Amino acid sequence: MADALLSVSDLHGHYGESHVLHGMTFEVKAGEVVTLLGRNGAGKTTTMRAIMGLLQKRAGSIRYEGKETVALAPNQIARLGIAYCPEERGIFASLNVRENLLLPPVVKPGGLSLDEVHALFPRLEERRYSQGTKLSGGEQQMLAIARILRTGAKLLLLDEPTEGLAPVIVQHIGAIIRTLKTKGFTVLLVEQNFHFASTVADRHYVVEHGRVVDMVENDKIAENAARLETLLGV
Ligand code: ATP
Repeated sequence: MADALLSVSDLHGHYGESHVLHGMTFEVKAGEVVTLLGRNGAGKTTTMRAIMGLLQKRAGSIRYEGKETVALAPNQIARLGIAYCPEERGIFASLNVRENLLLPPVVKPGGLSLDEVHALFPRLEERRYSQGTKLSGGEQQMLAIARILRTGAKLLLLDEPTEGLAPVIVQHIGAIIRTLKTKGFTVLLVEQNFHFASTVADRHYVVEHGRVVDMVENDKIAENAARLETLLGV
């Protein structure tokens, strides 16, 4: 794919002696929302950690805007314009919403101002003086996404943003992801819930045992639903 923004090729990753990624290969084009779908333990989070340079032992190729990044340090990767929103969200509990939003360094021009964040997430403006510990799961997730938008990153890695959230909040997160796409962001999303994934994504890669075993365009998801359900064990 000549115009891939992110191109991952034959990526291997280890935790100590444990070989977890076995040649992950996939691409994300600028402006796309792409999911990595797969069962627990398939290697989706590890792939995101490898892209961010957070996995100590990794090999293969990860190209961002054509530049090889597989050997770069996390801060160098962040400065290229890639940001990671981990499943555990990483909200600072002792800080309020506003303070959490003021923390991330701007790594690229174009990071959202507080006003722009509030326009996108009115709830965060209402809750701006609430401490991290007082936020609902949905508010924490919005804050976690808002925080990475502050950095100016253009490629957003979102790890299971709907995990543990009520259906109405899941729909809201879906609407946010669709808005981010219209604003020109590129999103790589880890999901176990392919019904949710189908409401936001252009394409889906199925991950099994640390490699991609299938790719489905979103407009073909209905005709592939039975196969996907088997692959994902849902
Ligand atoms: P999940 O949704 O459960 O997080 P996943 O597809 O994201 O699933 P990973 O978290 O990437 O899966 O885990 C891939 C494999 O690596 C699993 O076998 C897991 O047990 C193992 N693993 C994950 N983190 C570590 C770690 N810190 N040390 C050792 N092994 C790990």
